[in-house]
Order: sequence, then structure tokens, then C-alpha cells
Amino acid sequence: MSKIEQEIAKRRTFAIISHPDAGKTTLTEKLLLFGGAIQTAGAVKSNKIKKTATSDFMEIEKQRGISVATSVMTFEYNDLLINILDTPGHKDFAEDTYRTLTAVDSVILVIDCVKGVEEQTERLMEVCRMRDTPVIIFINKMDREGQNPFDLLDELEQKLNLKVRPLTWPVNGGATFKGVYHLLEKQMYFFKVNKTKVEDDVALLELDSSELDQKVGERDANQLREDVELIEGVYDTFNRDTYLSGKVAPVFFGSAVNNFGVRELLEAFCQISPLPAARPTNVRSVDPLEKKFTGFVFKIHANIDPRHRDRIAFLRVCSGIFERGKFYHHTRLDKSVRFSNPYSFMASAKEVVDEGFPGDVIGLYDTGTFKIGDTLTEGEDLQYAGIPSFSPEIFKELINLDPMKSKQLEKGIQQLTDEGVAQLFTVQPGNRKVVGTVGELQFEVIQYRLEHEYGAKCRWIPMNTSRACWITSEDPKKIQEYIRLKGTQIGYDKDDNPVFLADSEWMVRMNRDNNPDIQFHTTSEFK
Ligand code: GDP
Repeated sequence: MSKIEQEIAKRRTFAIISHPDAGKTTLTEKLLLFGGAIQTAGAVKSNKIKKTATSDFMEIEKQRGISVATSVMTFEYNDLLINILDTPGHKDFAEDTYRTLTAVDSVILVIDCVKGVEEQTERLMEVCRMRDTPVIIFINKMDREGQNPFDLLDELEQKLNLKVRPLTWPVNGGATFKGVYHLLEKQMYFFKVNKTKVEDDVALLELDSSELDQKVGERDANQLREDVELIEGVYDTFNRDTYLSGKVAPVFFGSAVNNFGVRELLEAFCQISPLPAARPTNVRSVDPLEKKFTGFVFKIHANIDPRHRDRIAFLRVCSGIFERGKFYHHTRLDKSVRFSNPYSFMASAKEVVDEGFPGDVIGLYDTGTFKIGDTLTEGEDLQYAGIPSFSPEIFKELINLDPMKSKQLEKGIQQLTDEGVAQLFTVQPGNRKVVGTVGELQFEVIQYRLEHEYGAKCRWIPMNTSRACWITSEDPKKIQEYIRLKGTQIGYDKDDNPVFLADSEWMVRMNRDNNPDIQFHTTSEFK
């Protein structure tokens, strides 16, 4: 095996996703604990942005700081190098999560056994399904009185439009939770309340042994036998290929806070999860084993120190070896760029790295040359596909409050929207700036950051718009005609694509019905 083959074989890059409060932070921490990356429980900070009643901006800033520090966590386990890409829990930052999902090879989805599938879970899974990302499901909080596990699995299948396959199975739940039976290993893992240690109580038990009756009680043992029979009858045998193709999600049960079921999850993850694979671009699919380096930027984070305007761009290495100090081709700008201090996210300290392999995420200091989705290569003109923009839900017009600072405002709003904090649309006449987001919080963050980072003051005028549809037509005349007709209901996104700004879903439907020559797209990823 060549060096690069070895390095690729070692890497697993994934994200943990969940509806807020299902246990993502807790599970992340436990996984890091297994990897020995952190010594004590409680070291992983939740990056939840909690909005306080008084809109405490400093608090938001502080929390943004935490979220950059915990954006990528790397640990070693069983000779693998595992990169966890963190995703913000707050719904208002969902865009950020969608983008991060384009940079991973697989996902672990955490479900709260009491609440089942929640709204945010459904949306996140839609994004995973768009790219057939392999998913492992962890049903958490089994120490609480939750739903019947069979009902939960049915709900997962229906709401997430995905097939599931349990690999462990709980014996009871809530106060009488006894543990999980591993359906492949045929072992029983006994539950103990355990917040800090990483050890299990395991017993190798034949399902029909009398020892099982002794250990879990006759009634529960019989229930388990029945359940297992039902599972083997209803669900297909687990097959890694169907998991890798994103069609079937293996399911594990446990309790993250008690460190229960986590090791089994991690062991299975190490065995079945995909290594960095080939990725599509606008011209061809790029294999990670290719000699030449390619990579793309999936996240940009402003420096939290307002005295420094530079930003951190997160680059996912897709092929070849990224080398420090080497010139690379920035394909959108068609120019050469080099980075003298790229860094890795190993442990908590930022370390300068000399090399990066496929699957790695590298932090690059950026002074405004990057936009989300930008691709770096060794010269070839290609662009990684698949960083979609979804329709924002709330739209407001940006009004400059200080005519002397219009340059700063312009620069600020361009850069902030490059970071993916919000989407910017320009409406004619008058180059009016319309900002679209998925949550109110972003408008406050933007206003605050424009003032503190760029010295520009603004206010917002709410709009009736609630949907943006990217519009195209085979016939250039038809689209011109439509744009002229709709006037101020047309905006242009940052790549100058025309977008129909509609007040309601109903209005989109009406326009679609009345204009058969125009295609209306709900995401920017339609090419
Ligand atoms: P996140 O929003 O998904 O990151 O959720 P957190 O990891 O912050 O967890 C939310 C809450 O659920 C916290 O109070 C955790 O202590 C609690 N929690 C996490 N795992 C479990 C579990 O297995 N059982 C119980 N009872 N609570 C848990």
C-alpha cells in the first residue's frame, strides 16, 4: 500500500446530527473519551446558541467562539483517525449544518427515545438523502421511559423515508432498563448508571440459555426472545453495502450520559463506516487516491477577535496530499493561493500542519478570498458539486443608516453572506439588498457584526416574502420576459442567478402553473 492509500484507509470523517437536546454533545464527549482525546467528562462545550431574553450579543459572540473551537474534533481509536465535524444545534443555524454535511462521509443520527423523530431531524435527514450519505442511528436516553422500540423504528422508517435495521436491542426501558442485547455478537450488555468510566458489564449468553432467565428475569428473557424472533423475521439480515449506499440505517440503543451502548456504537462505526470516497465535481468524479491535491471550503468562520478581520476557512481535503506553503489554484477566482500556516484540529490546541490527506479538515487563514463551496486544485479547472442553498424563510431589506459608511456596509454584508450566515439577494431598481435567513437570530447577529467588525450601522425592513425559488428556462427570451413582468419580485443571488421572491407557497404554485416554460427550483443545486 502506498502512503496515501494507508492514510486514506485510516480516516473516518463524519458528523453527529440531532434535534437539539437529543444528546449530541453528550455522545460526542463520550466518543472522545474512548479515544482518549479528553481526560475528563464535561470538557466538550455545547455549542448551542441559547437566545437570552435580552438578546445578549456578547453571549452570542462567546458561544460562536465555542462553536469554532469545537468545529472539528479529531481522535484516534483502534488505529483509525476519526474526525467529528460538529454541527450547530440551534435551528437558526441549520444552513451551517447542511453545508457541513457536504464535507462528511457518513453521519450518526441521535434520537431521543422519548421524543422520537423531531422536526429538525427530518430536515437534516433530507439533506443526507440528497447525497445518499450512510447513516447510523443511535437511540438515546434509554434510561427514560420512552416509546416502544418497534414503534420508534416504524416512526423512523416512515418519517425519514429510510429503512432501518436494529443491531442492538433493549431489554425494557426507563426505570427497569436492563441493557441491550447485541444481535450480531449475541451478547448481553448490562446497564449500569455510570457517568464517568468506560467499562461494560458484558455476558456472552445464548438466547435460549437458562442463564439469561437468571440474569434478566424470566419474563424479560422471554420478551427478548420474542422480540429477537420478530426482528429476524421482519428485517433483512444486516448488509454493509446497503448501509454504504445510504439505503439502510443500522440502529443502536443506549444512554449516552451513562456511557452505555456507546462502545458498541463506536466499534460498529469503525468496522462499517466508509472511508473517504470519490466525490462528484462539475466535470468528473475525483478519486481520493489521485496524486493531485483537490479540496473545497465548506465553512467559513469569522475571527472572534474583532481586532483581526481575518477569517478561518475550513477545507476538506478530497484527493492527493495538501502541502503547507505550496501554491494551489483557486478555481473560482482563477488565481494562485498559498497557505503558510494551515492548521489541524487535533486535540484542543491548533497545530500547524505540513500535510493533509483525504478526509482531513484543515483550517486556513483567509482574508476574504474564499466563499463557501470554493475549490482548490493543482491547476485543473473543476468545482466540487453539492453545496446547496435552500430557500430562506425570513426576508428583510437591509437599510444603511450611515451614508458615510456605505462601503463598509457593502463589504461587510458581502463577507458575512460568503460565510453562509445568510443569503443575499439584490433587487432592482436601486440595487436593494434583501437578506434571507432561516431564523430571526441571524438578523441580530448580522446587525451586531456589521457594526462591530465593519463599523457600519443598519436597520431591517421586514418583507412579506417567505420563499425564494431559483428560476431557469430553456428559452432565454422567456426568462427575460418573466423577469421583466415580475419586476421587484425578482432578486439575484450572489452568483447572479435570478430568483423569484414569493410571499407564499401558494403563490409559487400559481406561478408554476401559469408559466409552464419557467422552472422553479427550491434549492440552488439544480444544475
Ligand atoms: P444536544 O443538544 O443534542 O447536544 O444535547 P445534550 O448532549 O446537550 O443533552 C441534552 C440533555 O440531555 C442534557 O441535559 C444531557 O445530560 C441529557 N442526556 C444526554 N444523554 C442522556 C441519556 O442517555 N439519558 C438521560 N436521562 N439524559 C441524557
